[in-house]
Order: sequence, then C-alpha cells, then structure tokens
Amino acid sequence: MENTPQLRTWLDEFNLTHPLVIAGPCSAETEDQVLKIAHELKNSDVSIYRAGIWKPRTRPGGFEGVGEIGLKWLKKAKEETGMLIATEVATANHVKLALEYDIDVLWIGARTTANPFAVQEIADALQGTDKIVLIKNPVNPDLALWLGGIERLYNANIKKLGVIHRGFSSYEKTKYRNIPEWQIPIDLQNRFPDLPLICDPSHITGNREMIQKVSQQALNLNFDGLIIETHNDPDNAWSDAAQQVTPETLKKLFLDLKTRKKDEISENYNNNLENLRLHIDEIDIKILDILAKRMQVVDEIGKLKKTHNVAVLQNNRWRNMLDKIVEDGTNKGLSEDFIVTLFKAIHQESINNQEKIVNS
Ligand code: PEP
Ligand code: MN
Repeated sequence: MENTPQLRTWLDEFNLTHPLVIAGPCSAETEDQVLKIAHELKNSDVSIYRAGIWKPRTRPGGFEGVGEIGLKWLKKAKEETGMLIATEVATANHVKLALEYDIDVLWIGARTTANPFAVQEIADALQGTDKIVLIKNPVNPDLALWLGGIERLYNANIKKLGVIHRGFSSYEKTKYRNIPEWQIPIDLQNRFPDLPLICDPSHITGNREMIQKVSQQALNLNFDGLIIETHNDPDNAWSDAAQQVTPETLKKLFLDLKTRKKDEISENYNNNLENLRLHIDEIDIKILDILAKRMQVVDEIGKLKKTHNVAVLQNNRWRNMLDKIVEDGTNKGLSEDFIVTLFKAIHQESINNQEKIVNS
C-alpha cells in the first residue's frame, strides 16, 4: 500500500473548517437514549453519530450491547438529525447487518484489530462497499499489526479508509486507561501522511477530566479528527461511564480547542517541539520504571546479604561495575562525567536501601 492524496478524499468531501468529530454514546441503550443524544448533538461540530451495539467485553456478564435493534435506532437518528451514523463491527455477520441498515461508517475495534483472522473476515465481508471504514489500533503497541489490518482493508478495495488511535493497554497502572504512546501514531502518520488519523481521547484517558487535554495534544500533532464518547447521563451509562461527557460539555470542549495550521513555519516548529517533548516525556517515564525495577532487585540482594550476614558494600564489585558502565556508556556517546555522576547517585540510593534492609 502506497500513500496517495486520494486517501483523504472522503475526509475533504466533508468540507469542514474544523477537525472531523464523531460523537455519541459508548453503547446504544434504548431508542429514547439514542435519539435524545443525537438531537442534542445536532447543529454542532459533530458530523458522525456513533453508538456501539455489539460490545466486546473483557469478561462475560458485562453489558454486551443491544444488538440488531440498535441499528434501527441509529437509522432513525440519521433520518431525524442528518448526521451520518457509525457503529463497531467485529464479525462478517455484523458487517452484513450494518450494510443492510445502511450504516455510513463502520469501525473495527481494538480487540478485533489484534486478530488478523477476524480482520480478514471483516475485510472479505466489506469487499466492494463504499462505506467509510475506520480501523482502531490493536490493544497492544504493535505498529506492524495495525498496518497489517489497514492493508487487509485496502486490499479488499475499501477506498474510504481511516485510522483511530485509542491508546495501548499495559499491565502497569498509569493515569491513562490506555497509554497514548504518541510515537506509534506519529510513525504511522509519517508512513501514510494522507491517511485520515482520528484520536479517541475517551478510550485513551478512561476519564472525562482528561479528555480536553488529550484532544488538544492530538490536534497539536496534526490529527484530522476526534471520536468522543458522549452520553446524556454519563454517570449512569451502561458502559464506560467514567469517560463519557455530556453533549453540553462536548460543545464547550469545541470552543476551547485550538486548531493549528499545518503549514506555517512557526507552527511547524511548535508541532515538532511538541512531538519531541511528548517523546521525551514517554522516555522519562520508562527511565523511572526501570530505576524502580532496579531498586527492587537491589532490595532482593539486600535481603540475601542480611541472611548471610554479608556487608552492604563490596568495593571490588562497585569499581568493576563502574569501569564497565563507563566503557559501555562512552561507546554510546554519553560523557564520562555524566555516567559517573548518574551511577554514583544510583549506587548511593541502592546502598541506602540495603542499609535499611540489613538494619531492619
Ligand atoms: C468503543 O469505541 O466503544 C470501543 C469498544 O473501543 P475500543 O475498541 O477502542 O476499546
Ligand atoms: Mn467505550
């Protein structure tokens, strides 16, 4: 698959003066709820109305979606408001039903993108359609898997393709529900600069308080649009309650968001700077994680030394270790001064920790 300017034709045809916005509830719950939210979003910056009707749940027993009847409600929302309608498809049968009800935009969820068999089955079922198809990143931070999914759809002759960045899951507890790892969508954007790229701050944050900030970050990184879960009564939503915003909050968010021009030199500078700083912030978090892990190992050694009644410091080991690290570090282009200062600090902290353990 090659980048071509035609990849963004479908987006250009919206003729928007602002980023594309897809909004609506995580899940369709009742006909009234679907219609009520749709009417509240009508005449706003929202072009596409979303609602999940088949919900992939992590564990059985959660709300699994209303199913086919929800397609009827979405269709009615389109007739009454004029917005295009979107839903998630995860099987060939979902595609068949969505096409029967003339759903305009189909998206492939993160759990589905992670499975090439499932993506291929969906691509085969979509063959020949002129619907807009958006593919979310896989749950795991794997650009090749995401690209593979995009290519499967492209090879099925889907002309109106786009991607949604919804963050990546991690076992580590962070302030995000799904860590953004911005470098991955940025790499994708570098490969396919004309492929419409949409950010899903709802699933990245998992928390409505952070949606504004992540939306702005995405626009600063030249994302083409946003998909934001919007509910008339977020706290009582049947799924993803914590991350949904009201239509009113969404409209306020539009007023506060700053869109940046792509082709002005100073803007360009700012965007690059922002990209690099985000990258640095992510690396720094990794450095902290690694330091924390190192200290856990240090503690294990401390316990071992205590059991065997051995002194905390073995000077030979420390001197040999430092020589080796200086050699490795200077080979990587780091200055000797910096390495010595850094590792003396790390070593000091390790000794302090072991002292506590040995004396406990
Ligand atoms: C959704 O958009 O409601 C959804 C289930 O998202 P994801 O596939 O990103 O988890
Ligand atoms: Mn959701």
